[in-house]
Amino acid sequence: MTPDLMEEGARRMQAYAQRQAQRTESGGRAASFRRLVKIGEPDFAHGVALYLEDITVSFDGFKALNALSLTVNVGELRCIIGPNGAGKTTMMDCITGKTRPDHGKVFFGSTIDLLRLTEPEIAQIGVGRKFQKPTVYEDLSVFENLELALADDRRARASLWSRLTGVQLDRIGEVLTLIHLRDHAQRTAGLLSHGQKQWLEIGMLLMQDPKLLLLDEPVAGMTDEETERTAELFLSLEGKHSLVVVEHDMKFVDMLTEGRKTVTVLHEGSVLAEGKLADVQANDKVVEVYLGR
Ligand code: ADP
Ligand code: MG
Repeated sequence: MTPDLMEEGARRMQAYAQRQAQRTESGGRAASFRRLVKIGEPDFAHGVALYLEDITVSFDGFKALNALSLTVNVGELRCIIGPNGAGKTTMMDCITGKTRPDHGKVFFGSTIDLLRLTEPEIAQIGVGRKFQKPTVYEDLSVFENLELALADDRRARASLWSRLTGVQLDRIGEVLTLIHLRDHAQRTAGLLSHGQKQWLEIGMLLMQDPKLLLLDEPVAGMTDEETERTAELFLSLEGKHSLVVVEHDMKFVDMLTEGRKTVTVLHEGSVLAEGKLADVQANDKVVEVYLGR
């Protein structure tokens, strides 16, 4: 081989290596599929946990989200209210990677662009989501459900048969107390009340110690007492975690906001009003489209 051919070969190999390196650094969710490089730690130094800018999501031309912007601070408990169809669940879908917006930015902390990550990657870096319906392993005990939640899916089955470390046992104990299920640890999850199942699912999320928790209508179907206890639970999580809570139950929102925190009202895919609950409840536009006279 002549020297110039070798040089040309070396140049091509270098260019190829460069392209490969760029592949993991750019592109959307499809490009990040099967990524091998580790995603960096989220950076919360600027006080922002979640940053949405100008998000638009269209379904067959209908805009479920329309230039939605929202910032949630580190440790904040933010309640989101708004009529059915306002886009609340779609907003959560965009944060968790289930839906990809047509336009806009979604950042976790100040550095992590969530639009470049897959759904499992987003969960893995510390975004936990609670759907409307509880999804626990009905045939397993409360304790076993929490134990399974310690491991990611691939290790889940093995983990049931391996011994827990002291730290893990302590964490399960802590979470059992938080979710008011300490006395039900050995009970089959399928036998719990609807409210208790909701708490267990929140407990499963907490086992992963998420930085940001997204909770979609968490008290739907709960009794008044369960609702109150859920409010206490969320208030105890505030500060350690950032929470985004979507709810229609104004009594619950009132308990969570304690008369001073910011509530965001969504309507037709964008922010209609933002402020203290009492203020947004007195807002004419909010009354008209959502709360009624
Ligand atoms: P909310 O949670 O505030 O009740 P959603 O986010 O569920 O509202 O829905 C917002 C709007 O987008 C609704 O009109 C809904 O019908 C529509 N929508 C949501 N998901 C889809 C989808 N996958 N395909 C078509 N339309 C959808
Ligand atoms: Mg919804």
